[in-house]
Amino acid sequence: MSVEVLRTVAALRARCDVVRARGARVGFVPTMGALHEGHLALAREARARVGADGLVVTSIFVNPTQFAAHEDLSKYPRELDADVARCATAGVDAVFAPSVDEMYPAGDQTRVRVAGVSAPLEGEFRPTHFEGVATVVTRLFHAVGPCVAVFGRKDYQQLRVVTRMTRDLLLPVEVVGHRTIREGDGLAMSSRNRYLSPADRARAAKIPAALGLAVRAWEGGERATERLRATAEHALRPWVDAVDYVALRDADDLSPLPDVLADARRAVLAVAVRVGGTRLIDNVVLGEDPAPCG
Ligand code: AMP
Repeated sequence: MSVEVLRTVAALRARCDVVRARGARVGFVPTMGALHEGHLALAREARARVGADGLVVTSIFVNPTQFAAHEDLSKYPRELDADVARCATAGVDAVFAPSVDEMYPAGDQTRVRVAGVSAPLEGEFRPTHFEGVATVVTRLFHAVGPCVAVFGRKDYQQLRVVTRMTRDLLLPVEVVGHRTIREGDGLAMSSRNRYLSPADRARAAKIPAALGLAVRAWEGGERATERLRATAEHALRPWVDAVDYVALRDADDLSPLPDVLADARRAVLAVAVRVGGTRLIDNVVLGEDPAPCG
């Protein structure tokens, strides 16, 4: 089946409206392209949720407003033809690939800011990032219309920000989180992994290994927040060039946790590190996600 490539909001909206008018659902997977198995898993999840009658749309848009001036916007990989071919293998019906002008009309002055859940972790190291994400996701949701939208838990804080924003703005979208898809040694798939040299790629595998140690400690009954956190940090620090954070936070709103975890408390262990020139993030929800390695 060939994949339709739509370039304008008007064309996308018309395509989605036709599907909803006949009572079928739209499944939506926003991406920045350079697609890998992680992205394709989200597309398959969208298909499973909307069924054979539904329409699965993947957007491919490298969103300039979520990159800071010193970040990798200009060198972010762009490979639309290959991405469209990959989408075909995952049963995607349509790819939405707008220009920057289409998403940010001339004279644009509007931004969406989500307080609270945007502030810690990534928010401390990339202070303008989630405003860019919230702004583009709001625009994409308005362009697609009522839908089920699938996001990866790999970008855990992004999923929490989008979930909060969708509720707060009464957007007619069901937001679904999908588990992280990993390489054989546990490294979370990412468009940025291609920047790793072979030696750095080997060091990057210490990230899931360190998360796995904390998962095993939790499974062994450890409930002391700092000991769980430090288990991962001590395992990771010798292997990476910089640790931005290793943090154990409330899994819903990312607020700080008490010294000892109550049984019902869901906690996410989130890390951001630099390996060579590449910044990598990963996470596990203790008690929910399996140890990510091997
Ligand atoms: P990106 O193109 O990197 O902005 O990612 C687009 C979507 O794919 C986001 O919802 C990501 O969380 C998700 N994603 C990226 N990598 C993975 C992965 N390894 N497993 C699952 N989802 C992923």
